[in-house]
Amino acid sequence: MILKKNMTDTLVNSMRQETCPACGHYIAVPFLDPSLQPIATVAWPRSCDEAKSMQRLPLDFVRCVECGHVYNAAFDYSKVPYTRKPNLMFNKGVIWADNIISVRKKILERLPKKPVVVEIGHGDGGFLMGLAAECPDGKYIGFDPHGAKSDKDMPSVQFNACLFEPNLHVSKIRPDLIISRHVLEHLINPLGFIQSLSFSASCLGSEPELYIEVPCIDQAIETGRTVDFYYEHNSQFTTESFTKMLERCGVEIRMIDHVYDGEVIYAFVKLGCYQKHVRTAKAALGFRDRTRASENIIIQQLDSLHKSGKRIAIWGGTGKSAAFVNRYGADATRFPVVVDSDMNKVGTFVPGTGQEIRFSDWLTEHPADVIIIPPQWRARDIMEEMKQHKIRAEKILIEHEGRLVDYENEKHPYN
Ligand SMILES: [Zn+2]
Repeated sequence: MILKKNMTDTLVNSMRQETCPACGHYIAVPFLDPSLQPIATVAWPRSCDEAKSMQRLPLDFVRCVECGHVYNAAFDYSKVPYTRKPNLMFNKGVIWADNIISVRKKILERLPKKPVVVEIGHGDGGFLMGLAAECPDGKYIGFDPHGAKSDKDMPSVQFNACLFEPNLHVSKIRPDLIISRHVLEHLINPLGFIQSLSFSASCLGSEPELYIEVPCIDQAIETGRTVDFYYEHNSQFTTESFTKMLERCGVEIRMIDHVYDGEVIYAFVKLGCYQKHVRTAKAALGFRDRTRASENIIIQQLDSLHKSGKRIAIWGGTGKSAAFVNRYGADATRFPVVVDSDMNKVGTFVPGTGQEIRFSDWLTEHPADVIIIPPQWRARDIMEEMKQHKIRAEKILIEHEGRLVDYENEKHPYN
């Protein structure tokens, strides 16, 4: 496709660097001209004056060029009083009610005989109670800080006035199904939310299904409709952005479809089936545990070196060397001598500990018994430099596999 030059200029100049809430891509372009509007759904002003004096909030809808998601780049979650006002959704329409029934039916078909079902953001509780009425042997648990309270007539339904925390509640409840209807479009990071559900389930070896449902703006875009874009609906899904989001969550997508004439999109996905993230997490924690143990070993080695009365020098005063000095507490009192090969660093001080950095040839006149070289991969070059400046030491130490080792006489990959 060849575009005229002024068109390409307009396109490239319209580029915005924002993070897409659905797919995480960083490039977006303007979608609607920015404007100011009060919050539209959860305000419930009680007088004309109150309504007129409401704060105007910035609408700055942009569109992700990767997945087509539309979102308000100026959205600030704290400006929406979800903590004080209920998010009521009109759902008395006949067609809407039919849709709810059909969704419920689809869900029930997939549930075991005695299901454990969680709904995140249960609102008035109607959807969950409807499920419980159809399948009374199950357990139904809602989470919504401002939603309905528990109903004594339905002992199988329990409403919690708190947020659902994936790391905590997936393991505690072990649900067969997690439901989230018309919640994601309000979140600042829907991708992160589903990823946290997916990761929690994968870690626990639990494989619940997730049902999510959000408004779909395919038709709004096609027909030039603007009323969908208000403050509370900060994150607006297209079929593509909804699908891309799920594809980035390590879930198994079992069904994606539309209801309500294409205005609503839903999906059933299986959570807990992505072991790659679990393996990486295990490896990361393993690294942390190893370094916890080695930290003590190296601190002790440094302490013994200091107590031995030998003259010690540390080669390098910034970057990796500064990281070494700070991590292992090589303070300026016990380890005052720091040299560097880089003239530009000379006369400055080690960040955090304050040793003055001298040029490396200082060691010609003031020899050290032991030289510690924190940047292992530079050790060979530094040895060459020592030769040139006729710098000698009894021992050169580098950090390897959790302790300081003798560079010349012990095994490591840096010589
Ligand atoms: Zn995107």
